[in-house]
Amino acid sequence: MLLEIKNLAVEVSGKLVLKDINLSIDEGETHVLLGPNGAGKSTLFLTILGFPQYKVVKGSIIFKGQDITDLTTDERVKLGIGVSFQNPPTIRGVSVRDLLKLESHQEMDEELNPRMKELAEKLKFSDEFLDRDVNFGFSGGEVKRSEILQLLAQMPDFTMFDEPDSGVDIENVELLSAEIRTLLDKDKKHAQRKRSGLLITHLGYILNFVEADKAHVLMDGEIACSGNPKEILEDIRKDGFKGCVQCAQCG
Ligand code: ADP
Ligand code: MG
Ligand code: MG
Repeated sequence: MLLEIKNLAVEVSGKLVLKDINLSIDEGETHVLLGPNGAGKSTLFLTILGFPQYKVVKGSIIFKGQDITDLTTDERVKLGIGVSFQNPPTIRGVSVRDLLKLESHQEMDEELNPRMKELAEKLKFSDEFLDRDVNFGFSGGEVKRSEILQLLAQMPDFTMFDEPDSGVDIENVELLSAEIRTLLDKDKKHAQRKRSGLLITHLGYILNFVEADKAHVLMDGEIACSGNPKEILEDIRKDGFKGCVQCAQCG
């Protein structure tokens, strides 16, 4: 297993948000996490990333066979975990170009490498745009495209996306999805896939463009259901998230 979450319980500001989460993702797999607003999806995302406000009160997180429950975010990123935030912070005084150099292990006085320049163009960023402060005054679509561009500089072994499809118009979703598939090795045959990921989505829109291997439904801090993404989505579209609690997938 690449990522194993065992009996995880998490407290935020003194409130128990995640109760007893068990979730395993194998090398080459992409899982999707669905669930209503407030279920705890972002809490799980930020806990895997190791944000200190998210306090693990029970259980553990194992990545590449190593217990990472007590590691810092920086240490987890170095082990190969990458993220795209739902609402990433603005970083004044740091340009997109500088951040890309940092993430692709380039020297600051070097020119941005040709691969990154090409990817920036593909994601519809002009050369001048790369000199803007990260996320400062960016539109919704620009924020998401910039998050994906940074991930393409890192090419993490495991990437988590928190609501990559929210607040983004159709053209941007298509553009982003092509690169998300690259980050998740989804354009390869399963046997050749190395990279893995977790897609968090409220309504599953992104699944029209990026295929997932397995779906989990998070409700009220617990996994209510796990199974085939297409079948689970169908249940949700018919009966809402309540349809997952006693569905045919996990009964
Ligand atoms: P989702 O991403 O599924 O919409 P969240 O993980 O953001 O859900 O939130 C789950 C619950 O945890 C909500 O009730 C939310 O108010 C609470 N919560 C999350 N983060 C914090 C925080 N930093 N402080 C207080 N409560 C929080
Ligand atoms: Mg969220
Ligand atoms: Mg069920």
